[in-house]
Amino acid sequence: MKALQYVEIGEPPQIREVPTPEPGPGQVRLKVTAAGACHSDSFVMSLDEEQYTASYPLPMTLGHEGAGIVDKLGEGVTEVTVGDSVAVYGPWGCGRCYQCAQGKENYCERAAELGITPPGLGHDGSMAEYMIVDSARHLVPLGDLDPAANVALTDAGLTPYHAIKGSLPKLVPGTVAVVIGTGGLGHVAIQILRAMTSVTVIALDVDEKKLELAQDVGAHHAFLSNGDAVDAIREATGTAAIAAIFDFVGIQPTADLGAKLRGTETDQVLIGVGVASVTMGTLGSPYDATVRAPYWGSRSELMEVLRLAQAGVITVETETFSLSDAATAYERLHEGTLRGRAVVTP
Ligand code: NAD
Ligand code: ZN
Ligand code: ZN
Repeated sequence: MKALQYVEIGEPPQIREVPTPEPGPGQVRLKVTAAGACHSDSFVMSLDEEQYTASYPLPMTLGHEGAGIVDKLGEGVTEVTVGDSVAVYGPWGCGRCYQCAQGKENYCERAAELGITPPGLGHDGSMAEYMIVDSARHLVPLGDLDPAANVALTDAGLTPYHAIKGSLPKLVPGTVAVVIGTGGLGHVAIQILRAMTSVTVIALDVDEKKLELAQDVGAHHAFLSNGDAVDAIREATGTAAIAAIFDFVGIQPTADLGAKLRGTETDQVLIGVGVASVTMGTLGSPYDATVRAPYWGSRSELMEVLRLAQAGVITVETETFSLSDAATAYERLHEGTLRGRAVVTP
């Protein structure tokens, strides 16, 4: 079969012919219907040799957003049926620890120790004709949802959903939420905020086109993320409290901007995988402000996100690419010229 693999550090990923994998006991093979390209893949491919080899193998098939048709069952699998259309829950855990028992496999206490990694972020992922899923537990029915249009919900939907849900009690009517970075994750975050709250949503980005997308999907205001952003937000929202800042970039300039926007009880939520530090303390920081750095989301939250899509209140803007053209999806992601998410349909 064909697979998009990261083969050589610092080089673009390549389409390669690899053996079609066989499902072992308890495993499920999917015929992949769709695979999303995430900025985290670009981050992984930007690591130098020492950083990369500490966590990832070579070659590695990319793709941690996946959907497929159940194609072959390993020994003992009874929970799914050949022909089912499913989405892959990516942040695999042990399934047995306290966090996993709550469906929060993204926070599995034993994943590192047991060497459990998400597909595409430690072992072969979804950018291939077929992929292996370790357990039927990690498959959620897609029902009538179109795989290509919805595969990105497994990360670009689930991650902002989990981030927003953690701040939900603060996102009360009359308050403001700021979304920094309105690409793949950010443009879904805006829709989740609109669907689940009645806050005023402010979008910030460095790219005018992304700001247009932000407004198209429901942001009340959109401003360039620069030195004027704080004043622009204040002018637009008056004295309304900023309940939360969702930072989908996570580099020092956006973390600093978020810190400036923090007021009493504001949540500053760092989701973007950048290198940033934030200072907190009783003096010089507003009372009871919080900084959080959530990761991905739980299994039940993925079900909730898919229900939002089924209800028609969130949709992912997607640009689709064939598997042979999958490397272009990453080039476009790197250039910042995508509208929403790049999805590969093998
Ligand atoms: P993306 O490239 O689709 O979107 C990033 C957006 O940020 C773009 O619109 C870009 O123009 C904008 N941007 C860049 N610099 C900016 C700045 N200084 N100020 C404001 N906006 C800026 O990326 P994505 O796939 O949506 O991923 C977003 C981030 O989230 C990445 O860092 C990714 O690694 C991370 N991520 C984290 C998790 C998690 O669990 N914490 C999960 C998935 C992705
Ligand atoms: Zn991702
Ligand atoms: Zn666990």
